[in-house]
Amino acid sequence: MKHFYDGGLHFECTQCSKCCRFEPGYVFLSANDIDGLSKGTGIKRTAFINQYCRIVVTGSGQRISLKEKDDYDCIFWNKGGCTVYPYRPLQCRAYPFWDSNLPAEKVWNSLEDQCPGINRGRLNSKELIEYWLNREKNTDYSFEGKNNGN
Ligand code: SF4
Ligand code: SF4
Repeated sequence: MKHFYDGGLHFECTQCSKCCRFEPGYVFLSANDIDGLSKGTGIKRTAFINQYCRIVVTGSGQRISLKEKDDYDCIFWNKGGCTVYPYRPLQCRAYPFWDSNLPAEKVWNSLEDQCPGINRGRLNSKELIEYWLNREKNTDYSFEGKNNGN
């Protein structure tokens, strides 16, 4: 199947932090994300969930998301950037190569308004783009998945 990104897409993060701040949004967490953040921060899983997470009801059921501050900055953002960068969730690692951003070239190009890294800098191969798409597709974000170790 042909995709508009078969020749790769230019994207290079400028570290502007716009995607971590200013606007309401969700950073959904898989069980692996929670384990990584819990280990990385040294906070036990249950305490981590209570302190840093919220439950969100979506069309496909309940999910766990990181909390936001009152100004909509991510709970883990401060003026130095992401304070959990080595353990950041898959959703953050995979951006901007999300399924919802890649249905058509015009959707991808429209991201230029919110992310200055889109269509600039490094050429990311189709294989790399599909690696992130598949990682996300194969990740269980359901609330139930948090209770059975998936
Ligand atoms: S908005 Fe784009 S360029 Fe800015 S930090 Fe996020 S991914 Fe990087
Ligand atoms: S976890 Fe880090 S990279 Fe992800 S939204 Fe929060 S501050 Fe940004």
